[in-house]
Formats: sequence, C-alpha cells, structure tokens
Amino acid sequence: MRKLTSSKIVLASHNKGKLDEIQALLEPFGIECVSAGDLGLEEPEETETTFAGNARLKASFAAKASGLPALSDDSGISVDALGGAPGVYTADWAETPNGRDFSLAMSMVWKKLQSNNTLPPYKAKFNCVLCLSWPDGHDEIFNGIAAGQVIWPMRGKHGFGFDPMFQPDGYALTFAEMLPAEKQPLTHRARAFAKLVANCIE
Ligand code: IMP
Repeated sequence: MRKLTSSKIVLASHNKGKLDEIQALLEPFGIECVSAGDLGLEEPEETETTFAGNARLKASFAAKASGLPALSDDSGISVDALGGAPGVYTADWAETPNGRDFSLAMSMVWKKLQSNNTLPPYKAKFNCVLCLSWPDGHDEIFNGIAAGQVIWPMRGKHGFGFDPMFQPDGYALTFAEMLPAEKQPLTHRARAFAKLVANCIE
C-alpha cells in the first residue's frame, strides 16, 4: 500500500454533505484539503456501474488535473427488498429538471416498497468506497458499510441525501436526527476512512 506523504490533498467531490464529513474525518491528521469545486475542476460523469469504478474515475480525474493526491467518495443506499436499488444510482434517483430532490427520491423508494407487498423491517445499507489517487495513476481503494433499515415517514433535519429515512442498526434515531458528531462514527464513510488511515496515513 502506498503511504500519503503530501500534506495537501484534493477532495474530489462537489457534494457539500460528503465534503463536510470527509473534512471532519481528515482534521485530526493535519492534512490540508481543497475541494475540486474550489479548484474550478469539473465533475466527471459517473459512467461506471460499481461504486469502486466511479470512485476511481472521480479521484483519478482530480489527481491528474490538479497534480495533487485526490480523495473521492462514491456511495449510495441499497435496499434489500428492492434487489439492492438504488445502490450505485442513488444520486440519479434524485435528478429532476430543476436539480436533485432527495425528498422525491426517498418517496420513490417508499412507494416501490409498498407496491412490492413486502413487510417491514426494510433492511438496507449505505455503502461507501473511498479512492485515494495520485497524479501518476496509482490508487488505493477502501470500502465501508453502515447497516440498518429504511423507515417512513422520514425524520430529522441534519445530514444530507437519504439520511432522513435511514435508521442504523441499534439506534432509534435516523441519521438525520443525529448531530454530525453522533452520526460520524456510525457511517459507511468513517468505516472506509478508518481502513484508509490504517493503510495509507499511519
Ligand atoms: P454519488 O456518490 O455522487 O453517486 O452520490 C451518492 C448519493 O448517495 C448521495 O448523493 C447521497 O444522496 C447518498 N448518500 C451517500 N452517503 C450518504 C450519507 O451518509 N447520508 C445520506 N445519503 C448519502
């Protein structure tokens, strides 16, 4: 595994929710980070069919364009009773002509579950793949999972994306009802990040 020796990296994401969480995870390591948006980098189209494929595509684009190591996150929610959907297409389910609407995407998930005649609890998991990519093309990939269930009606105002309908195993609160510091250690992102730290930072 290659170690990160640079004290500055690019966060290859334009998603504010992800950026806030990744910045909080990186903070204790004193690594300066700049976002792809701050550098004026475009957001490459996510043309792959796996989390790892899309994570690699985003990180390698940002690393090559900036000349700095770049860290990307590809993530999504998979619902067992929907055969793993929306999965890698989670963000796509929120697309509307006026931008992304996650309330709409969450209600689509719930409607599909109701029309399937399946019964709760609706087991689900968030997946996260982090890719750390260097300008010379080398990369390292780590994955993390947060297991739980999807619930309705959605609850909570914190977080982002599908947080209001996801209740992690062992908790009565949704991710959106938790403060950022309460959600962080339970996330798929933090679990993938712990592997990245163990292999590439420490
Ligand atoms: P992508 O990685 O850009 O394809 O987008 C993944 C989508 O999954 C995000 O836009 C969010 O809607 C959702 N997602 C990923 N991680 C989380 C999370 O921690 N909370 C809520 N939604 C998430």
